[in-house]
Amino acid sequence: MGIRSGSEFVESLRDARTIYANGERVRDVTDYPPFRGIVATMASLYDLQHRRRDELTFPSPTTGEPVSASFILADTLEAAERRARAEEIRADHTFGLMGRMPDFCNAMVSDVVTARGYVGRREPRYGDNLQRYYEEVRDRDWCLTHTLVDPQIDRSRGPAEQDDPFAALRLVRETDSGLIVRGAKMLSTLAPFSNELWVGPFYPRRAGEEAYALCFAIPTATPGLKFICRETYDGGRSSFDRPLSSRFDEEDALAVFDDVLVPWERVFIHGDIEIFNGVLARTPGYAMLQGAIRGMVKLRFLAGLACHLADAIGRSALPQVQSQVGELVANAELVSGLIRAGTQEVTWGATRGTPHRSLAATLWVMIPQAQMRAAEVIRQLSGSGLIMTPTEKDFANPEIAGYLEKYLRGKDVSARDRVQLFKLAWDMIGEPFGSRQLQYEWFYSGDPNFTRSRFFRSPITRDFKAMVDRLLKPPGA
Ligand SMILES: Cc1cc2nc3c(=O)[nH]c(=O)nc-3n(C[C@H](O)[C@H](O)[C@H](O)COP(=O)(O)OP(=O)(O)OC[C@H]3O[C@@H](n4cnc5c(N)ncnc54)[C@H](O)[C@@H]3O)c2cc1C
Repeated sequence: MGIRSGSEFVESLRDARTIYANGERVRDVTDYPPFRGIVATMASLYDLQHRRRDELTFPSPTTGEPVSASFILADTLEAAERRARAEEIRADHTFGLMGRMPDFCNAMVSDVVTARGYVGRREPRYGDNLQRYYEEVRDRDWCLTHTLVDPQIDRSRGPAEQDDPFAALRLVRETDSGLIVRGAKMLSTLAPFSNELWVGPFYPRRAGEEAYALCFAIPTATPGLKFICRETYDGGRSSFDRPLSSRFDEEDALAVFDDVLVPWERVFIHGDIEIFNGVLARTPGYAMLQGAIRGMVKLRFLAGLACHLADAIGRSALPQVQSQVGELVANAELVSGLIRAGTQEVTWGATRGTPHRSLAATLWVMIPQAQMRAAEVIRQLSGSGLIMTPTEKDFANPEIAGYLEKYLRGKDVSARDRVQLFKLAWDMIGEPFGSRQLQYEWFYSGDPNFTRSRFFRSPITRDFKAMVDRLLKPPGA
């Protein structure tokens, strides 16, 4: 089949999926007003693959049809750069605002399939399942959502110690057809607009949690699988009033499993704590690379926005404003350089299984901090302009339009353009859409305390300590 068009993607969402939003069951996600904007954005991503086929696709090794470059299993630097270039083009299309555009899960499935030998080392059929699934997702151009983390409930206890053992997703029983699972997972970004759900490992499991050590994939419309969305952010306002909420709200959902059947051919890990905990460390890091590229694009967008805001109120000549905005530009450049290093790392990872240190540092430390800093700078340099943003309808009201044109204009910019710019900034950092973006960037790669402490525990920390020892106690002293 190969790459799909936007309309094929939209059509594929009209199935028996169970989605709840704003207190109601959404029967057709493509026709639900708060979802229309994001569905159109998603469709445009699929159409983009056709328009820029040379850069965004490669021939499927199985069918020869063009398939997304985000499935390239890169074992050379050239191939990794091809992946990275395609991911940058697609992230740029959505200004880096969609953390879970389909490229992310494509990269994640590509990551895990490279570890199929490890996944199937005790039960070879699980490794085979993975290979088949990777080919299916690639060749049918499915859109995946993923969910890795247990509901928070009581984090002082593990999933097996909660009052209700089914609070987190766990195995109920095995049958001839597959596994029956029950419980919940959160979150699942993009769930209403996906064709498949991937459930996989992330935080390590402990002995005794075997029933919770699961990795599988099922269609979004599987009986018993329900997605309960958080409140939608697109309230039907115009793209002037809410330029981002109206187009890029990718949604997040709680995934509830009411005795769901996972067919055997879709099971990848089942009860094996060692493989569950070890698999991600054996992947090349394609998903990390995609995440970092997407983050870089967004940092560029935020730096550009900060520049425009300063220009619009005539503050660009001030040294402190130049210093603040310059810091944002420098952060985007830093990440860009780190991505070049990361592109090499995924190649080395694919061929030699070495760790991807600079990619991890970029994604776990640099990007979340830089996103927070960008929001802070935008807030500080905007002043009251961020708040004094009447609506599009106010500009259309002849009783007040003249006042708005006179008092809300900026330096070399009309009032309407200036207000539109500040509305964009407010949607980016102040509205529910923007606040969620900040929360998301902080937790994008998991709990920052957990991910950063991995660096603390890594062998390189011992090397750094040894340097200090060398100064204090020189050899032979
Ligand atoms: C907008 C958004 C979208 C998301 N989308 C997805 C998705 O599509 N798929 C998916 O799988 N997940 C998704 N997630 C979930 C994400 O993976 C988790 O938020 C992340 O792993 C952190 O887990 P948690 O939210 O349960 O927080 P917790 O683990 O409960 O952490 C809460 C706080 O406790 C702190 N903490 C934890 N342990 C300690 C400790 N020992 N000492 C001190 N402090 C500690 C943490 O640092 C954090 O500040 C999404 C999250 C957000 C916010």
